[in-house]
Amino acid sequence: VAHVRNLTRDFDNRRVLDGLDLDIAPGEFVALLGRSGSGKSTLLRALAGLDRGVRGELTTQGTIAVAFQEPRLVPWKRVLPNVFLGLRHSDPKAAARAALAEVGLAARADAWPLTLSGGEAQRASLARALVREPDLLLLDEPFSALDALTRLTIHRLVIDLWQRRRPGVLLVTHDVDEALRLADRVLVLGEGRIAHESRIDLPRPRRGDHPRLLALRETL
Ligand code: ATP
Ligand code: MG
Repeated sequence: VAHVRNLTRDFDNRRVLDGLDLDIAPGEFVALLGRSGSGKSTLLRALAGLDRGVRGELTTQGTIAVAFQEPRLVPWKRVLPNVFLGLRHSDPKAAARAALAEVGLAARADAWPLTLSGGEAQRASLARALVREPDLLLLDEPFSALDALTRLTIHRLVIDLWQRRRPGVLLVTHDVDEALRLADRVLVLGEGRIAHESRIDLPRPRRGDHPRLLALRETL
């Protein structure tokens, strides 16, 4: 669903992406790690078609949905309309309600975005991305403000949804365990390119503290 070759992005004479190559196969779940400032969000914005300043070859197929690092909810609309805004669906309201229920936010549908907690806003933003049923789902640290329990619930939800609909997923995270638990392939961004890559060919339910993952973890 995404094909990237030699992607380069400069900000004020500083090269952030430097000839980056990346492919995401349809239905593939990819996690992207990398130090703060390494260019993860820059890459996601480029994939989403939101950055006109990138150079190189970039093609994507189908529809793309993004959950940004800072939940970008429209402040003058309540949570529910934020989720169905621009959604093409026979019953967008019902779909949005269902998506909010899935992320555990049914009770906050009529709240104003500015009254949400950080984790609630992240989940609303996630619902807005999920309800679009995209071919490529771009998630920029969508779980960072969640408590450990909610995080596990949302992991389950994302995996369930991914198994049902099989979108390509690119998940940016700082959490190595999260990456190893969720993804088929883990990438590390460094020096403006994919500096390291590991394929995780283990069945999901039994990953946890699998010795191979523990060994792999040391290399990341
Ligand atoms: P984090 O893990 O902290 O979210 P990141 O890997 O997502 O970091 P980016 O947000 O992609 O990092 O930023 C990469 C670098 O590019 C940073 O040094 C940042 O300052 C710079 N940068 C990003 N956007 C701009 C911009 N619009 N103008 C100037 N510099 C920018
Ligand atoms: Mg970022």
